[in-house]
Amino acid sequence: MAEFNPADSIQDLQYFGEYGGVNPSITDSSTYTFLRAGTMEGVFEGEVEGCYLYSRHWNPTNRYLSMALAEMEGTESASVMASGMGAITSAIMQICSAGDAIVSSRTIYGGTYAFMKNYLPKFNINTTFVDTTNLEQVKAAITPNTKIIFCETISNPMLEISDITELAKIAKANNCQLIVDNTFSPMIFSPAKLGADIVVHSMTKFINGMSDCVAGTVCASHEFIDSLYDVNSGTAMLLGPVLDSFRSASILKNLRTLHIRMKQHSSNALYLTTKLNEDGYKIVYPGLAKHPQHETMKRMMNAEFGFGGLFVIDMKTSEKANLLMEKMQDDNVGYLAVSLGSYKTLFSAPGGSTSSEIPEEEREAMGLSDGLVRISIGLDNNIERTYQAIKRHIEAVG
Ligand code: PLP
Repeated sequence: MAEFNPADSIQDLQYFGEYGGVNPSITDSSTYTFLRAGTMEGVFEGEVEGCYLYSRHWNPTNRYLSMALAEMEGTESASVMASGMGAITSAIMQICSAGDAIVSSRTIYGGTYAFMKNYLPKFNINTTFVDTTNLEQVKAAITPNTKIIFCETISNPMLEISDITELAKIAKANNCQLIVDNTFSPMIFSPAKLGADIVVHSMTKFINGMSDCVAGTVCASHEFIDSLYDVNSGTAMLLGPVLDSFRSASILKNLRTLHIRMKQHSSNALYLTTKLNEDGYKIVYPGLAKHPQHETMKRMMNAEFGFGGLFVIDMKTSEKANLLMEKMQDDNVGYLAVSLGSYKTLFSAPGGSTSSEIPEEEREAMGLSDGLVRISIGLDNNIERTYQAIKRHIEAVG
């Protein structure tokens, strides 16, 4: 059998529009008619398949995008949500009840961290944060109440790589679900193929790639995705983070170019970090041989898509970090903005923005200094020109 390749899976999708269009038609309806009243009852009871009821539940456009995402991640099924946080929170709350516990990586997106640290305890769901690159720490944190192990493939913002294969084994041995946030590395990693139970993404980032919308996805088994949409107990159905079908349709078209974009982001990041590292600057990038999990990543990744488009420069102080970002924006190297995965370079200082939810002492413990600048490199064609500009501005900041 041919080896799994996420780009081939997307290329092989054959979706026709209602009138033979080369893109599927967009559903412009919130609700759906039934010819027979009994069929509607059957849909509510979960006995009738293939009918649409109401767009918060499912609609054909969201179904197309979901099926494409399941193909990309190699999972049985998938769902689309109105944001990455909608996807993460729906998946977690579907699994956990009061009294349950989570073991999570400590270096994760600040919103996910805040949800676990501050919000879930309201429901008596508590999280132990550990260094998931240290498997002994993960094992030691698991209790009989643990239901979920959570990590990001390439963590935000420290770019640590967790060993998904080993975490999956630990999860299985302890009857837990391994949830992996693959936002930083679509196509680069196929976490479900490495043993993860559930893969989530903020599609706001690379998958859509245009910085024009907010969206998320959960990719998992049929059973899990169906449970999210159960009319009586599904978090997606009852909390309602539904993605608008017009957005779904535009994300589906952007998904068709994701493989080319990921390769360009990765080769640009590798070019810049190799040169800036040789120049003696403090750079974090998993593609550099000096990165502590470089070999772990090489073992797990789909190599042709590279090491990703994110890297970090440590400017030591927040003043220097801010000055560098302002200079780079003035020179149109990119935009001083949160988020990532865009066609245009975006940079921010996570200590004062996307990771500010993480308490200072924990940020220190994970090496997240206030001087860090996280750069999501765009699809720049002349990357040598970009390198010269960044180097010039770093030198000017001193
Ligand atoms: N996961 C990661 C790794 C992120 O970086 C983000 C947002 O920055 C999210 C999840 C949340 O996604 P969204 O902003 O689409 O809700």
